[in-house]
Amino acid sequence: MATLNGWPEARESAVVRIVVGGDANGVTTLDGDVSTAFRWLLEQFHARVEPISEVNGWRSAAFNKQIGGAARSNHISGTAVDVNGARHPFERHHPGKRYSSGFTNAQGRAVRAILKEAGGLFGWGLDFPVGLRDAMHFELANGTTKADVAAFVATLRARKAAPIAATTDEDEDMPTADEIAQAVWSYRNAKLERKDTYALLRRTSANAEAAAHATIDAQGIADAIAAALPEGNLTRADVRRAARLAIQDVLRAQPEEPSTPAEPAPAEKPAPKAKAKAAPKP
Ligand SMILES: [Zn+2]
Repeated sequence: MATLNGWPEARESAVVRIVVGGDANGVTTLDGDVSTAFRWLLEQFHARVEPISEVNGWRSAAFNKQIGGAARSNHISGTAVDVNGARHPFERHHPGKRYSSGFTNAQGRAVRAILKEAGGLFGWGLDFPVGLRDAMHFELANGTTKADVAAFVATLRARKAAPIAATTDEDEDMPTADEIAQAVWSYRNAKLERKDTYALLRRTSANAEAAAHATIDAQGIADAIAAALPEGNLTRADVRRAARLAIQDVLRAQPEEPSTPAEPAPAEKPAPKAKAKAAPKP
């Protein structure tokens, strides 16, 4: 039986224990690259969001049933973890109460930044539908493949060799059109697909990671670039033009977020440098 994200049920022999933070019991997830990816996620969480005091991962189908978990819970495939569950509740366990994730806005931003750096590999239970929000819960995103996980683990090894710029400085500028164009241009000889564009924005460019902190989201820009790029042999000018158009499109499409102070959208500027901050999602 596949769990919700498409990964098969895992037996105990297929999972491995890792210890991150202050939970001496550690956490079990699927062995191999999946374990490496979750170790990275948990280390980032522990260092940048809050100290980990309790973390749970894989559970057998029988145990999952016993505790009333969802029938196809991703925990059964060893591809989900619950972090500091006492502080970050599962909404369904508290019906009728106003839901709070238990994270501050700054912590929420740190989580979002980490998830962006993982290139969409992980989903967060806080994004589950209202009524089922589960802020403690992180999982391999729906449809994530073994190859996706392997590719991410490869980027971790590359980062170790050449660490990317720190991304915790919230005053970092957003990427300019030229910087984005540079990142896209570096892929000019590859067959550029939409997912490649996402990947390069999220993984290759520290500036794209800065964008993760800002109002303009890297995925929106990537989407627009992918749509704007012409077929065939690209020139550098093509790429720069596409990046500029993409930023303008994304700026125009920005939804007004209630907690963000109103700022005029610099729609005509080709390379906006506004230090807009992302309004954290509830
Ligand atoms: Zn969970």
